[in-house]
Amino acid sequence: MALEEKREKRPPVTPMMIEEEAALRNGSRGLPPGPWAEAAGPRPRTTERHIAVHKRLVLGFAVSILALLAVTMIAVLLSVRFEECGAAADGPPRAGGNGSLSGVARQPHGAGQPPGRPEEDARGGEAAEEEEEEEEEEEWQRRRELPPWARPRLPRHLRPLHYNLMLTAFMENFTFSGEVNVQLEVRNASRYIVLHAHRMHIEAVRVAEDKLAGGVRVARTFFYPQTQVFVVVLNRSLEVQRSYNLKIIYNALIENELLGFFRSSYVLHGERRFLGVTQFSPTHARKAFPCFDEPIYKATFKISIRHQATYLSLSNMPVETSVFEEDGWVTDHFSQTPLMSTYYLAWAVCNFTYRETVTKSGVVVRLYARPDAIRRGSGDYALNITRRLIEFYEDYFKVPYSLPKLDLLAVPKHPYAAMENWGLSVFVEQRILLDPSISSILYLLDVTMVIVHELCHQWFGDLVTPVWWEDVWLKEGFAHYFEFVGTDYLYPGWNMEKQRFLTDVLHEVMLLDGLASSHPVSQEVQQASDIDRVFDWIAYKKGAALIRMLASFMGHSVFQMGLQDYLTIHKYGNAARNDLWNTLSKALKRVGKSVNIQEVMDQWTLQMGYPVITILGNETTDNIIVISQERFVYDSDTKPKDPARGDNSYLWQIPLTIAVGNTSHISSEAIIWVSNKSEHHRIPALEEASWLLGNINQTGYFRVNYDIRNWKLLINQLTRNHEVISVSNRAGLIDDAFNLARAGYLPQNIPLEIMRYLSEEKDFLPWHAASRALYPLDKLLDRTENYNIFNEYILRQVASMYLKLGWPTNNLNKSLVQSSYQHEELRREVIMLACSFGNKHCHQQAATLISDWISSNRNRIPLNVRDIVYCTGVSLMDEDVWEFIWMKFHSTTAVSEKKILLEALTCSDDRNLLNRLLNLSLNSEVVLDQDAIDVIIHVARNPHGRDLAWKFFRDKWKILNARYGEALFMNSKLVSGVTEFLNTEGELRELKNFIKSYEGGAAVSFSRAVETVEANVRWQRLYKEELFQWLRKSLTQ
Ligand SMILES: [Zn+2]
Repeated sequence: MALEEKREKRPPVTPMMIEEEAALRNGSRGLPPGPWAEAAGPRPRTTERHIAVHKRLVLGFAVSILALLAVTMIAVLLSVRFEECGAAADGPPRAGGNGSLSGVARQPHGAGQPPGRPEEDARGGEAAEEEEEEEEEEEWQRRRELPPWARPRLPRHLRPLHYNLMLTAFMENFTFSGEVNVQLEVRNASRYIVLHAHRMHIEAVRVAEDKLAGGVRVARTFFYPQTQVFVVVLNRSLEVQRSYNLKIIYNALIENELLGFFRSSYVLHGERRFLGVTQFSPTHARKAFPCFDEPIYKATFKISIRHQATYLSLSNMPVETSVFEEDGWVTDHFSQTPLMSTYYLAWAVCNFTYRETVTKSGVVVRLYARPDAIRRGSGDYALNITRRLIEFYEDYFKVPYSLPKLDLLAVPKHPYAAMENWGLSVFVEQRILLDPSISSILYLLDVTMVIVHELCHQWFGDLVTPVWWEDVWLKEGFAHYFEFVGTDYLYPGWNMEKQRFLTDVLHEVMLLDGLASSHPVSQEVQQASDIDRVFDWIAYKKGAALIRMLASFMGHSVFQMGLQDYLTIHKYGNAARNDLWNTLSKALKRVGKSVNIQEVMDQWTLQMGYPVITILGNETTDNIIVISQERFVYDSDTKPKDPARGDNSYLWQIPLTIAVGNTSHISSEAIIWVSNKSEHHRIPALEEASWLLGNINQTGYFRVNYDIRNWKLLINQLTRNHEVISVSNRAGLIDDAFNLARAGYLPQNIPLEIMRYLSEEKDFLPWHAASRALYPLDKLLDRTENYNIFNEYILRQVASMYLKLGWPTNNLNKSLVQSSYQHEELRREVIMLACSFGNKHCHQQAATLISDWISSNRNRIPLNVRDIVYCTGVSLMDEDVWEFIWMKFHSTTAVSEKKILLEALTCSDDRNLLNRLLNLSLNSEVVLDQDAIDVIIHVARNPHGRDLAWKFFRDKWKILNARYGEALFMNSKLVSGVTEFLNTEGELRELKNFIKSYEGGAAVSFSRAVETVEANVRWQRLYKEELFQWLRKSLTQ
């Protein structure tokens, strides 16, 4: 599953103004947003509409209940006995469900009805039933056990082997009916069948023994909403090692909320068209059919979908046969799937069209989208790279793609960027459709990486599935890591895994994981409600960073061999992290190396946070250095999350690579395994003027600190000849220095001194690292009195490179994308910094481009810098420009363009306009639900709007929480986005007071917010003055 990520394609928040204008209005400034953006895909839950639909459903049920009661009465009067397959009741039919499948629904359980409270039946069986229930509850209490339906995990006495699922989709009223037949294997005898089912109406239940004709009588059935299960209580126990068939007939809504089997729509030729599609991960298959909805219960599935012939249907497997009926309906019967988990099962009912390609190994790849997009060729890029990527993965993993086909479905709305359903992966349109004529490199990069990610899951996730959600990082970490490896295969010149991985993954997640309120990458998960929580950046990014460190110390070819074994051994099954560690250890052994990978990796996956290594003392004559480790935290004053365990007890086994360098040369790296708090090591060839460099190419997940002398030698080296040190280490030194200083491990001047060499830096990555590391520092200072000193210093560092590179003159064509990616990205980065900090030329250029657009009504602004230009224009120019961008935002249809226009509106320094925008953001007709969060967060990044956004957030919390509360990822993005740059004592108090009185979830997000703001306030108190003093001195020199 891909969470929506933004690779810093957004413009600077409110640039500094040119001097003349600044004299008239107060200056404002900012840096590229994004580094901390815990961006997520939208999961708007339109509560009001949802409730309305439920009302209708309840009303519908009430009517059917009345009708059923009447039928039952008549039946009783006529002494009709419903009997079928021997499953019927001997006595009077009990409303609790007795297994009749005569087609008459006799079990009017509404969704979410309290457990064990079946509707009163005509004969008043309720009292007897309640008694029975109470006895049963007491029995469990006597045994001091939770009843099987109340446990957080399904009881393990049953295992589904195969599902036959027959669905009928009624697109005209957004309901569907289903019949599921589950073949069950009994491991331990039991009277209970407990499986997941949520928000559905179950009409009938029958249990029959497979081989014999006889059925097993159902005593009663009930929903238990707390654990989202449906319970079938039988009159006798199911016997061990026999197989049974469970049949359930049910119906439900094709929901408007984006989970389970849901609907979405688009407009074609002025007409609204609907489609139904599924999102089951992690726990929503249970909303679409009763099932054993845990990843460990792999089974085969045979699906049939009946729908009107004006639609087509899709599922994981290809259609085997289609049966047409006279009344305009058709039933598609899909081939049987291999063994798989419920969460990546999928289907869709739509009237999309497609284009198709075939891989060398014969896999048919189709891209389905709305007909106009297919006609325009917007899916061709994705289709083309998908074919190549399947070939890449088949070759890399040495395991063929498992299904005969792969469909990519581009839907207008989806809760995540994409979802890796096996054979039917679903993408939100913005993450798969691409029109090369209006797409920037970053947009192309986003599309590419999401596709690479989902394709990796066809192996990591779908073919081999984590045993349980605590190890979701096993699939998400791999898919995220392979985004970079796979993109390198497509664009070898981009060096994604060696370079961009650092800024986009490693540096980014170390910000989060450096908080005392972080959590381990393997997280305990008990309740269903915990499961959403594990899909966060720690799982994705720390998972990926740990995998990269592992690959690097194992050696890439051994690592690859190990993965091939792991996939081959566990295919069509489940695996836990220890299975991976064992297979990798064996692979290492084969090449004669012995590392206990489990022992090493447990420390990294089960402990939160990461270490900072300090290398001291190349001053002694005997070439001995001291290496020590401690847990890195931004705010050392915060109490550890687990008071039983102080920060002192954190220890890691660290594969520290180290090299020695002098003015013109760097030694080859040596690896030192550091496993104690402090160790002495002998380093040969350590001379007077030589410096030490740790974590070569930043392959390790930790920071490195040195004594000041070594820092000075490194700075000196960068200034004289930076190319002795690799690009990735140059970026790494910048990021480490800024963050070590921010946390107080290092004097504040060191990072600013390192930056000075950038005027000679022609590579993109160190600039990118600097710009991202400056961002939080800028936000700490942007409302302080002396901000202009800092601003001036940064401008000086950027000026000469800005002059050298200039502005892009034309738009990129396809061939340019590959060859000039690094150069274009560098130029963009430098322009962004220049405009953000108020370079006059940059401002004039932006203003000229905007004026030209307004006067000619032709947008000639180069694609790659449009966001920067729009934002700068809105910030510098008068209200008319804001209105012009606002108008363009409404009239444009291209998704990527719409988004940057909306974000540009947040760059204004006019507080009235910002307030107006905030208020408009909650109007779903104007701003998409998923974009509203970005509006609020971007206003919070603008120093003129920070307090407005913060106040707006508190005032509207009830509305916001109702809208996004269930989508944890969205909610935490909003909470951190609005609070992360608050940095005064007053704001900290406001935050704490708000938390005392607020209602709703997000407790984890709020505790992280408090820690972040506390660290900000602490930095202001301890280090701000030190920084300004150095800056003042430096500027007068
Ligand atoms: Zn994923």
